Amino acid sequence: MDIEYPSYYEEFRCIAGKCKDSCCRGWCIDVDRESKKRLDRIKGPLGEKIKEKLKEEEGNYYFPLEENGDCPFLLKSGLCEMILSEGEDALCNVCASYPRVKQIYGNYAQYDLNASCEEAFRFILKWDGRIVRAVEEGMGEKLSREQERELIHVLAFRTALWEELSYLPTDFNAFFLHLFPFFLEGESQIFPQSDHPLRKNRPIHELLTKWQELEEYPFLSKERYSAFLKWQDKSTEINKDFGQWKELFKKYKMNPEIRFNSLSKEKRLEWENQIVALCRYYLFRYTLLSIKETSLLPVFSLLYQSIEWIYTAFVFINTVSDEEKKQFSCFFGEEPDVLRIAVFFSKELEHDEGNIRNLLYFLPLFN
Ligand code: SF4
Repeated sequence: MDIEYPSYYEEFRCIAGKCKDSCCRGWCIDVDRESKKRLDRIKGPLGEKIKEKLKEEEGNYYFPLEENGDCPFLLKSGLCEMILSEGEDALCNVCASYPRVKQIYGNYAQYDLNASCEEAFRFILKWDGRIVRAVEEGMGEKLSREQERELIHVLAFRTALWEELSYLPTDFNAFFLHLFPFFLEGESQIFPQSDHPLRKNRPIHELLTKWQELEEYPFLSKERYSAFLKWQDKSTEINKDFGQWKELFKKYKMNPEIRFNSLSKEKRLEWENQIVALCRYYLFRYTLLSIKETSLLPVFSLLYQSIEWIYTAFVFINTVSDEEKKQFSCFFGEEPDVLRIAVFFSKELEHDEGNIRNLLYFLPLFN
């Protein structure tokens, strides 16, 4: 099987007790059947505790969170009681693999790290974009000739765009003005007959011609901002901070670009240095989704709306009072930065299928 992974993938190590935003908080832990068998064999006080904490619902096992939102095995030191007592092999699959993600399609697999882990996201922000290619044992499901064709073309599309990313302008609107036609051209070549809802009654060559006539496009217009507030309201709230973000966005109901210009030079540079890293992360993670959706346009939509949310949050949080900043637990009392915002956004959105689907339906020119 052919595999690809970002060059940082093998360097990642969990920072455990040093992690402020531990993944052992806020999510209940699903326990797969194999792990359950392993956990059943643990004896002594830890074995008793496992029996007491493990719950079952319709044949599925899980560890519910404690009242304070922590995993029952998270110690005050920030370390995991199971690892300390039994070693890493005792962990259930979801804990052992997090934040690693593997996607397989046919005889192609890609590995990467989830942005909801703060240490993983440090690697993502520093990534020079190098992708490692290798071969590993195993065979995936057999693909039809058409599926093989799509896979080859989708990966070629990503590789071609990859080369261009560092040459795009870093201004928010200009970045997406230049990025969108790559998706339109890719769409016209890979999915010319797609019947995805975004494509309904819109011939792709017409979209492309219209787009090429534009010198600028107001991605952050007033209308767009209203649509942005609406998709947020449709999203399931996982952490209470998300409600606070929504309130902040409603309170400062205005074009974030205007506020961006009032940021300090350092803050503007912080954003401009990281827009490409954000784009690389979403592009690498979600390009394969286009095969399931039979269109590249939902991938653009997801990528755009995710970065738009992070940008808006970054601009607003850096222009509000210290009192308002303190309401957000996701910064752990630190100065707000792109890293904490993007990690929060990932935890809130990327682990919920419904929230991800909410992000798939924005098409510039038509929304
Ligand atoms: S969020 Fe990442 S660094 Fe933090 S405890 Fe979990 S795996 Fe480790």
